[in-house]
This record gives sequence, structure tokens and C-alpha cells, in this order.
Amino acid sequence: MRIVRFAAQGDVSFGVLEGPGEDPADLVVAVASGHPFAPMQLTGERLPLAQVKLLAPVLPSKILGIGRNYADHAAEMGGTPPTTPSVFLKPNTAVIGPGDAITLPRDSEHVDHEAELAVVIGRLCREVPRERAYDVVLGYTCGNDVTARDWQRSDGQWSRAKGHDTFAPLGPWVETELDVSDVAVRATVDGELRQDGRTADLVHDIPSLIEWITRYMTLLPGDVILTGTPAGVGPLAPGQSVSVSVEGIGTLTNPVVSR
Ligand code: MG
Repeated sequence: MRIVRFAAQGDVSFGVLEGPGEDPADLVVAVASGHPFAPMQLTGERLPLAQVKLLAPVLPSKILGIGRNYADHAAEMGGTPPTTPSVFLKPNTAVIGPGDAITLPRDSEHVDHEAELAVVIGRLCREVPRERAYDVVLGYTCGNDVTARDWQRSDGQWSRAKGHDTFAPLGPWVETELDVSDVAVRATVDGELRQDGRTADLVHDIPSLIEWITRYMTLLPGDVILTGTPAGVGPLAPGQSVSVSVEGIGTLTNPVVSR
């Protein structure tokens, strides 16, 4: 099931994306009356996808980012992966949805894209053993862990570099039925392939991340874990368009503008 959050006719709702094919012109949104953290109740109303504005598919209370979780990216950053997950927070005010603009700060000289598989948590949880980790997952979406690399290096910690408004694009929807143990994670900029990794190369896999994080922190429905980025991160410039694709989910595209 592909769960969308969307605006149409002045209202914001959740819904379920329906076929018949994969051509966006053929896709229809079945409108839901509630939220996706309980059994979805459909109203019976259906809207063509082309007539709605897709929003970030969830509003997380927090986003957990995982640093250097692919060995090839750790190497391009000049290091090795940490032996335990390196966790940081991105504020929910950084979240934008499909088609929304990534705004480059006036006083950063180097903002990178980071294509990532995003895990969406489905229920309140704490101290989840890895054997039960998938029980607390609602599904998966595409994420772009946009990062001001110069601020990340200069600040000593990452709140500003990772937390600037618009630095957490999410979408286009949450896919609830997907085996994410080995799917492609790619970034393109103006159509040029920049990142091309596979989740089989995650240093700390998804059950390990959920077990590690929930040893310390309660996760709430809608919270997001950005699982790390493969090699090939690179700078964004005003006027460009960056797309993150995860195999089996879809593509999240955002224009880049200067502030
Ligand atoms: Mg990242």
C-alpha cells in the first residue's frame, strides 16, 4: 500500500494511491478519513493524482539521522564507519514535501544532497529488540539528508548543518509492503546520476538501528529514521533539481533555490 498525504480543495488528508499502472496520469488517490497509524478508513472519494498537491507523507515529531552508515561514503568523508550507529537529530521544521524548494542559506558555500532510505515508524515504541523491529515500522519513503558541509565541519556538532529549514525533503509516499534489505538508493541532479548505492551495504541494518535508538529514546508514530547515504554526495546550486529514488518506492524531486 502506498500512503500519501495531500492537499486538495483547501483540505489536507491522507489517502491511498491506487493503480492501474505506474503512469502518474493513471494514478488515483483514495481519500482516507483518518490517519495511517490506525486501520485506514477510506471515504469512497477518489481524486486523480494530477489534481492533488502531494505533501511530505508524515509530520514526524523528530527525524533521526545516521552518520557514515555506508563504508564507501565514510571513506569519501575521510574515515571509517563507526562501530555503533552515529545518531543525530534533524528538526521537523526542516521537512518539505515533493516539489517543494530546497533553500540554500546565504552564508553557506557548500550544501550537499544525501540520498537515503527513510524508515517511517508506525507506533509508539521503546526498547525494541531487533527481532521485533519491523513490527514498529509503518513503511518506507525517500529522504534527502541535505547538509551544509562547511557548517558541519566548522560547528563541531551538526544541528545547524543538518537542521536548516528545507533540509529534510521526504516523499513522495510511504510504501508499506517492501523488503528493503537490498534496494537501490540513487540521487540524480538535473538528470545526472550522482549516487547509486544499495541498502545491502548498510553498515548497521534497519533492525539494528531501531534496537539501538530505542534503547535511549521513545519513538512516536510518524517519526523518521534516515538510514545513511551511499558514496557520491555532491554540492547543489540554485536552479538545479535534485531527485532521490529508492527502488520499489518512487522518486522524490525538489528544486534548489537560493535564500
Ligand atoms: Mg545522511
